[in-house]
Amino acid sequence: MNRTEYLLIQAGSECNEIAHRASKALHFGLQEVQPEQPLSNAERLVGEYVDLLAVMEMLENDELIHMPTGEELRSQIAAKKAKVEKFMRFASEQCGTVQLESSK
Ligand SMILES: [Mg+2]
Repeated sequence: MNRTEYLLIQAGSECNEIAHRASKALHFGLQEVQPEQPLSNAERLVGEYVDLLAVMEMLENDELIHMPTGEELRSQIAAKKAKVEKFMRFASEQCGTVQLESSK
């Protein structure tokens, strides 16, 4: 395994850790603090996201990927938010699988 392969595995691992923390937050709530842990599920979720950002930055520093910045980044984030909102409305209105009024 070379450095690139190692970093790519690390990126995938951090994604899995984000998914794991999101699942814990869904099961027990964002504010729940697991016994013998100092941080809430929300704080731990953010921590894993920061871990992923660090690895992505390493991939960029090695010139293996290009991370958008500034307006390019804001535009891509806005597009993703719009897509998530669109399909959440679809799930709510057409599928009945999401209750938008009472959930947060
Ligand atoms: Mg991590």
